[in-house]
Order: sequence, then structure tokens, then C-alpha cells
Amino acid sequence: MSDASGMMTAANMTVDGDRLWDSLDQMAQIGPGIAGGSNRQTLTDADAEGRTLFQRWCEDAGMTMGVDRMGSMFMRHEGTEPDLDPVYIGSHLDTQPTGGRYDGVLGVLAGLEMIRSIRDLGIRTRRPIVVTNWTNEEGARFAPAMLASGVFAGVVTEDYANSRQDADGKRFGDELDRIGWRGTEAPGDRKIHAMFELHIEQGPILEAEGKQIGVVTHGQGLWWLQVTLTGKDAHTGSTPMAMRVNAGLGMARIIEAVDRIAMEHQPDAVGAVGQANLFPNSRNVIPGKAVFCIDFRSPDLDKLTSMRSRLEVEAAEIANELGLGIEIEPVGHFDPVTFDADLVGKVRGAAAKLGYSHMDIVSGAGHDACWIAKVAPTVMIMCPCEGGLSHNEAEAITSDWARAGCDVLLHAVLDAAEIVR
Ligand SMILES: [Zn+2]
Repeated sequence: MSDASGMMTAANMTVDGDRLWDSLDQMAQIGPGIAGGSNRQTLTDADAEGRTLFQRWCEDAGMTMGVDRMGSMFMRHEGTEPDLDPVYIGSHLDTQPTGGRYDGVLGVLAGLEMIRSIRDLGIRTRRPIVVTNWTNEEGARFAPAMLASGVFAGVVTEDYANSRQDADGKRFGDELDRIGWRGTEAPGDRKIHAMFELHIEQGPILEAEGKQIGVVTHGQGLWWLQVTLTGKDAHTGSTPMAMRVNAGLGMARIIEAVDRIAMEHQPDAVGAVGQANLFPNSRNVIPGKAVFCIDFRSPDLDKLTSMRSRLEVEAAEIANELGLGIEIEPVGHFDPVTFDADLVGKVRGAAAKLGYSHMDIVSGAGHDACWIAKVAPTVMIMCPCEGGLSHNEAEAITSDWARAGCDVLLHAVLDAAEIVR
């Protein structure tokens, strides 16, 4: 975009929102869902087709490609000083089986749009800029999520990733070879000056607050605690109340405690039980066993730790009162992520300079940026999504939200990559 004189200064430049929207639409034609969304699961033929389209677009924009042994694509726009560590923009093109068009895809294609825009405007940066498509962020076909960025950051090994199997028993490594996207670079063998991820919020806060931009300061940490309560199976009709050892009752009291403990650790802490099984799960048997999983999250490590230890104490008291046996097994954990303060400032500054309404926000979901933050200065930018709905074909954003997010990405990345004047 340019003004009447064909010139635009770096200070007031914006991306081409229509071109971004059109690219999002074209990518959504590949691996279409059944209800207007996308089904471009990782390492499928549709994934390969989406990758090829993205590669072509990037090469048309003068970028060169590197691919690592996990299939992550690194599309490089050269800087005037090629030896400087590049600024990275990254997210993912893979989707859930009944996924939306924007989860991940926005962050990758906004990176491309940013490069297209600065080329149009003749803007050069000292540092190279690399737009990245991380393989298998979703973890829908091959668990766990954020697999290739996890290998890049050294959280899991390459062998572990290659051995992951889908529901049909196909291995990640074999499928990566089959679609022809295994590169030669060792994962993690890149120096990153800074990494930016633009992503839809996947939650309702920005829309409810009427903000265009979320400046992401933290990613939530998480504990999954699996609780097993052991009582005694007994007839629901003939067992007097005083003689019952009811694991179901213990579970109910612990679920109440989870809710109360999360409420007592506000702001931002959350807790719930999403998965629960009673045994033998029969209408007329007092449950002799309950197995359920508690999910506690907080961006604050102290609060996360405190919620876990409070729960352990209270659950033991509840079990003791009811005569139940109790075991608590941690089955999942991430530490909270604190994004880089300098980069957070660049994102906030870009939103303010462009006049976009913005607020600080915590990422409730996991993202590639959460792993990359372990090895490089990293930050996220969030756009609202309608009704907070995601991982759903009905996921929706407006073209104005996409453009605003991409504009903020543009200015924040240029700030980090340093415009040559
Ligand atoms: Zn995502």
C-alpha cells in the first residue's frame, strides 16, 4: 500500500489486509473441513499441499527455504547483514481434524504478508527475517502437541518424535518421509535473535473487552493431577448410610475443593476436573473407586505450586474423613512461561503507535512460542476470535482483526530487525 506519491514512511506503513485475507482463504481451500473450516492434519497429503503452496508464495516473495529433520519450514528474507541472528516469525499450518481456518495459519501467513509488504515498500532490515511453519503443533494426529518446536527447543528428542504413532499405528517419522518433507538440518541448529508468534486468542477476553490486540505477557503453567480414591462397592439400597465408603462422594468433595482453591488464587488461576470415572459405574452400586484428573493452571509459578500443595492437603483430609484410600499422581506439567520483557514492550509499543486498542493478556493454551521461549527471546501477539471459539470449524475472526494483528507484527518485527535508513 502506498499514498498518492507512491511513497510511504516506515512510521505509518501498514500491511495489505485484503491480500492477507485472500491468502488465508486460499490456504483454507486445501484440506477443507465439512463445515467451512479446515482439516489439514499434520503429515497428511493436505499438509504437503499446504506446505507447497506456502513455499511457492514465499519464493515468489524472494525468500529462500530451509527445512529441518522434523519438517519445520524456515523461509528466509535476507537482511543487509546476513551474518546477524535472524528475527523469527512462526506458528503452524497444521489443523485439528475439525479445525478452524485461523488457528496457527494466521501467524504463518501474517509473517508472509509482512515480508510482501516490506518488499513492496522497499524497506530493508539489517537482520534477516525467517517465517517458520512448525510441524505438528496441534498434536491431534500425533500426540503430544507442539512436537517439532519441542524438539527444536530440546524439550523432547528427535527419536521420541519420530516414534509417535497415529490412531492407525503410522509413525510420525514414516509419514514425514512419505510426504517428502524431511529436511536435512538438525533441529535446534539455528540462532534466534527474537521470535514472534501472532495467534488468535482461542478465548473470549479480547472480544468481550472490545480490544483489537492482546499483548501476551505470560503463558500459563499447568499441573494435571490424577486422583484415585478407593472405597468399597456396596448395594445402594441395603447399605446403611453410616456404613458406606463412597468414592463418588469423595470425588464430589474434591471437585468442590478444586473450584474453591482456584477461586482463592485469583487473578488468572483456573482449576477444573474434566475427566472422571466411577467404578463399577452401575446404577445400584455405591462406587468403590473413583479416578479423575484435576487440571490447575496459572501464569504464576508460586500460585501454581500453592494450588497443588493445597489440593494435596485438602484431598487427603477429605479421603481421611470418608475412610477412603487416596493416591495422587502427577500426569502432566508445564512451568509458566514469561515472555521476553523487551519484546513485550515492542509489541505494546507497536499497538500504541498504530492506535489499536490493546491489553495485556495471558495465553491459556500451549503454543510453539512457549517452547521457543526456552531457547530464545520470544513473545506472542493475540487477535480476538468470535465468541472465543476455536478447535471448531466455526472458528471466526474479522479481516480487520487479522489486519490489525499483522500490522502490529510488522512494526514489532521491524523494531527487532532494525530498518536500514
Ligand atoms: Zn494454534
